[in-house]
Order: sequence, then structure tokens, then C-alpha cells
Amino acid sequence: MERLPAFELRRASSLAEAIGWLAGTPGARAIAGGTDLVPNLRDGLGSPPVLVDLSGIAGLDALVAGDDGVRIGANVTLARLASDAALAQALPAVVQAAASIAAPGHRSVATVGGNLCVDTRCVYYNQSEWWRRSNDYCLKHGGDTCHVAPHGERCHAAYAGDLAPALIVCGARVEIAGPDGTRGIAIEDLYRDDGRAHLALGPGELVAGVVVPVQPPRARSAYRKARARGAIDFPLAGVAVRLSADAGRVASLAVGLTGTNSRPLRLAGTDAWSGRAIDEALLADLGKAVQKQVSPMRTTLTQANWRRQVAAVAAQRLVRELAEAIA
Ligand SMILES: Cc1cc2nc3c(=O)[nH]c(=O)nc-3n(C[C@H](O)[C@H](O)[C@H](O)COP(=O)(O)OP(=O)(O)OC[C@H]3O[C@@H](n4cnc5c(N)ncnc54)[C@H](O)[C@@H]3O)c2cc1C
Ligand code: SF4
Repeated sequence: MERLPAFELRRASSLAEAIGWLAGTPGARAIAGGTDLVPNLRDGLGSPPVLVDLSGIAGLDALVAGDDGVRIGANVTLARLASDAALAQALPAVVQAAASIAAPGHRSVATVGGNLCVDTRCVYYNQSEWWRRSNDYCLKHGGDTCHVAPHGERCHAAYAGDLAPALIVCGARVEIAGPDGTRGIAIEDLYRDDGRAHLALGPGELVAGVVVPVQPPRARSAYRKARARGAIDFPLAGVAVRLSADAGRVASLAVGLTGTNSRPLRLAGTDAWSGRAIDEALLADLGKAVQKQVSPMRTTLTQANWRRQVAAVAAQRLVRELAEAIA
């Protein structure tokens, strides 16, 4: 890794101040825990003139449970999320996902907002400056060709944040604060299927927090990921499932996926399975649906087809395990 480029660090004391600086300074970037941004800057992946530090913004680290659900501020750290006993009961998939991210040192400073906005990844992108220069760079940064799909015009770098699929299956909404005020959107709408511009955030907009509703009665959720190194690694494929069931039949089923596409996905078509028996036929259909809807590309050293199959098998296993736990 190389030295950090020069930048001006501005410590915001309010959301309004951060938004004003970000909207008014071309190329300025937000920084929260810095565990994704700083390694990328050291690899020469951008040189923002100004970094706006969000860590001192009062109230952005609030985690509040109420009658309607839980509001998780953008600056809540992953360590805090992973160790919250009440959340582990209410939103196990979210807590399991938080606990699986990076290593304890990272989680002690890494934030929910930073995790949701983590950059997309590719084996041709997450490399040092000299490595990328010797390969003529690529479409995502500094070059004009994608080495993964050379005849295409888009970047297929994969979104590999762990929290998003867990929050998707729990029906979370994201609060976005920006120059024009605050808006709320379903978490899946925060993302676009474009490895170069995967966040649907306008200039100066920030994630302020996430609101997760109370979960349906008898619903259980879980998260699982496949990774190269069990102690510390991004998901090659990550799957979250929330299942509620009654007498061995699906009441509702939601499946979220990460690591396979440029955006985290909610598996389409599961609503039609309400009322179906949770049996081998359902699991077979689930496996086929996952394989069809994910589109891993050659963005990791691990084969794309293996990631596709692992995503399907992980979804099947999670549904089976959750069904047994509910019974
Ligand atoms: C060795 C290593 C292993 C890792 N393993 C994993 C892993 O297994 N799973 C995983 O998901 N991640 C992993 N990461 C990436 C990173 O540690 C986490 O995603 C972390 O949660 C990022 O949070 P942060 O607060 O440090 O973000 P930062 O690095 O501060 O920011 C990340 C991005 O989000 C933007 N941002 C930050 N806060 C906001 C906000 N409130 N609104 C809008 N934009 C914002 C920043 O501008 C930046 O573009 C790993 C990183 C390393 C170095
Ligand atoms: S998918 Fe292509 S354009 Fe995107 S980072 Fe990888 S090589 Fe670069």
C-alpha cells in the first residue's frame, strides 16, 4: 500500500454542516470509520481534496428501540450492533451479519452507514496503483476497458457489504439526509446495478440511519456467508433469510443476497410461495431461483459458478434450518 494522498480533513459537528461541505466541495467524500475508504485511498483509488468526518455528529450514533421497531443511526458501530442482546433476539440476521464483517478491530470503528455505502469490489480494482497501472487500469477507475467483460460497457464489480441483505429481508428503510431535506426509501432502492455508481445518492446526500420495523410473529431470520478466510473476509456470496411458517408451510419468505451482483438483491418471486409446504420441492425451486437471479462475474479469484451454487445451497440450508427452529 502506498501513502495517503494529501487532503483536508473537516470534522462535521452536525448533519447539516456535513451535507453543506459535501454538496459545496467538488470531489469531497464522507468518512466514517474509514475501514473501507482509507485502504482504497492508499491504493490510489481516488484523491478527494476534502474528507468530511462524520464521527463527531451528535446523535448519529443513536440506537433506539420503540413500539414501531428499531432505528439504527448511521454512526452505530458494527461492534455495538453485533453485541446488542435485544437486537440478537429481534433481528438475528442483522446481528449475525454485523458479527461476520472484517475483524474485531475494524468492527470497533466501522459503522452501519459506511457498511451500507461500502465500495464495490473486483480483483482488478482492489489492487495497488502500480498493479493496476501495469494492467492499463480498468473502466471503474482510470481505464477504458473492463477486464472481466472486455466487450461490455459497464463495470461488474460486486457489492459485498454484509448488512444490506440482512436489512433487506427485515424490511428496513433507509433515511437519507441531503441538501433538500430528508427522505426515506426501501433499503434495496439505495442501490443500482452498476459497479461504478452503485449508490442512488445525490450530491451531498448521506445515509442518516436505518429503520427496521417490528418483525412478523413467528418470523426467524439468519445470515450466512462463504468467504476465503473464515476469520476476516468479504462474502464471495452472502445470504440472509427471513422465514415465518405455520404448521410446516410458508407464511412468508424473504431472501437477500450479496457478493454476487453490483447491488444487494432481494430474491424475486418468494411471495408466490406463501402457503407451500417447506419440503424438498420448495427448496429445489428456491435453489433454481437463486441460481437464476444472481449473476456473479469473474471479479474474485474464486470461480463465478461456484459462488452461484454456494448462494443457492446457503439459501436452501438456511430455510431448512429456520423451518426446523420454528417447528
Ligand atoms: C481487511 C478488511 C476486511 C473487510 N471485510 C469486510 C466484510 O467481511 N464485510 C463487509 O461488509 N465489509 C468488509 N470490509 C469493509 C469495511 O470494513 C466495512 O464495510 C465497514 O463497515 C465500512 O464502514 P466504515 O464506517 O469504516 O466506512 P468508511 O470506510 O468510512 O466509508 C465507506 C464508504 O461509505 C461512505 N460513507 C460512510 N458513511 C456514510 C454515510 N453515513 N452516508 C453515505 N456514505 C457514507 C464513504 O464515503 C465511503 O465511500 C473489510 C475491510 C477490510 C480492510
Ligand atoms: S468489473 Fe471490470 S471495470 Fe469493474 S472493476 Fe472489474 S475489471 Fe474494472
